[in-house]
Amino acid sequence: MPDNLDRPNPVAAGGGEVYDLCVIGAGIAGLNALFVAKQYFGDGARTALVDRNARCGGMWNSVYDYVRLHQPYQLFTVGDISWELKKPRHYLATGAEVRDHFQHCLDDIRRGISLDEYWESEATIDREDAGKDRQFVDVRVRSAGGEDTTIRSKQVIDARGLDVPVIPPLELSSRAVASIAPQHFSAALGAADTRPIYVIGGGKTGMDTAHAALSANPDRKVVLIAGRGTAFHNRDIFFPTGLRRLFGRQSNFTAAIDVVMQFDGTNATEVFDYFKRTYAISPGDEADNFFFGLLSEDESALIREHLNATVFDYLTDVVDTDAGPAIQLRAGDAIPIEAGAIVVNCTGYLTRRQTPMKPLLSSDGRVLSITPRAAFHALPGISAYFATHLMFSNQLHDAAFYVIDNETLVAADSKTWHMAALAQTVYNTIYAFEALPMKAFQEFGLDFERWQPFHKRLISFADLLRNKERYKAHCRAALEKVSAKHGAACQPFRRGAA
Ligand SMILES: Cc1cc2nc3c(=O)[nH]c(=O)nc-3n(C[C@H](O)[C@H](O)[C@H](O)COP(=O)(O)OP(=O)(O)OC[C@H]3O[C@@H](n4cnc5c(N)ncnc54)[C@H](O)[C@@H]3O)c2cc1C
Repeated sequence: MPDNLDRPNPVAAGGGEVYDLCVIGAGIAGLNALFVAKQYFGDGARTALVDRNARCGGMWNSVYDYVRLHQPYQLFTVGDISWELKKPRHYLATGAEVRDHFQHCLDDIRRGISLDEYWESEATIDREDAGKDRQFVDVRVRSAGGEDTTIRSKQVIDARGLDVPVIPPLELSSRAVASIAPQHFSAALGAADTRPIYVIGGGKTGMDTAHAALSANPDRKVVLIAGRGTAFHNRDIFFPTGLRRLFGRQSNFTAAIDVVMQFDGTNATEVFDYFKRTYAISPGDEADNFFFGLLSEDESALIREHLNATVFDYLTDVVDTDAGPAIQLRAGDAIPIEAGAIVVNCTGYLTRRQTPMKPLLSSDGRVLSITPRAAFHALPGISAYFATHLMFSNQLHDAAFYVIDNETLVAADSKTWHMAALAQTVYNTIYAFEALPMKAFQEFGLDFERWQPFHKRLISFADLLRNKERYKAHCRAALEKVSAKHGAACQPFRRGAA
């Protein structure tokens, strides 16, 4: 697989460089930030990109190999850079294809910009928020070999985004079962392998894992331990094909408005139920969580039909008893399982962790942080794209839009988080729409509305123009109520506030 290590190494050239902009992280967040920033710089500007990997693409370098993109591939990109891959419009790209596309995006960004690249390098910002009078931010860059160099930059975009960790196997007491991580699961998919599979976690990774196992062999014993169950956007509703795409009534925008206009800031449970009935799908009977994942009716049916059992509880351990190994559940029950069974850890990549809190914009205005905390949008690529535009066009005004601490709010109340994230999407997008030139939206390739044919987009656009003040007022009132209950987890943006 190609990497970027053959690029000139700025550290080897002496280090101590001075830049106009340094971007940390070369995942979808960092590349979108760089794509946008490039438009605000003249010819002489110097930029740097630092990533601890040897390749760009972030999590798509280390995620399990049977992962597929949830959304049609052309809607997952950097700016509006087109894919070189030519597949049917609804194709769901593999992880390797996503990686290749990000490399193509970086190649595209490199043209017409002075970019120094620091690969296999860990960045740390020194004196994160040191006051208003500094001219540069110091970024310490540590190479894989442990050498440190400090670069100075007028502006830093810390775009480590979700910084998705590599998932380890579960630490289980039992010696009689095989505990594995999704990255090693493909080896267990051979026709000769008949070991029962226990998938721990009912989110996107759990669905991908159950689907991969049951597609390879529908008769294999697969059991899902699904926690509280997860609802997914129904892909057939959000990305219809054929005549339904052309003439069906729904657009993604109208669906978002339909749900969000029912949310008053206090009734997340009721609106979540409406959302589930109207727009969501889940292979199990219970579905209390939602993490912006997508599933199709065919995928859901295959899993529902062939799963041996779904357990709505949380695994705490697998122990060896006199009668053989047994799964222990949080509610206190135990389920006997087969010696030799495979237990795959598909539990939260993204939940149950606390990344360091950083303000979206430091008080001196020099560091923009794209993380799940103090976020402009729940999805880091979208956050990076708009926050970078707003920063370089001097539109990051106090109280102009809302920031959400996704990690804190989801842990406090996941349904309120989901509804608040939708209200934030509508409110902040309208703010960006009013603050930025139309070109920023024309180049916004992550926009799901691009799936819709022209006439449907026109109808949504007319609706937005006609009703945007009403939508904004409604979302602001709902977000203020969330803020009153959850404090800093949902609040109007303030420079330097975390
Ligand atoms: C299993 C799984 C499947 C998913 N599938 C989809 C999907 O189909 N569609 C979708 O829209 N979203 C999906 N997501 C959400 C996904 O996480 C995002 O879409 C996105 O790719 C995350 O990008 P990111 O830039 O935020 O983080 P990452 O991809 O994790 O990139 C962060 C980058 O920052 C670098 N970095 C971090 N800290 C430092 C540091 N100190 N110094 C230098 N470099 C640093 C890392 O090396 C990494 O390259 C999925 C998530 C998971 C876990």
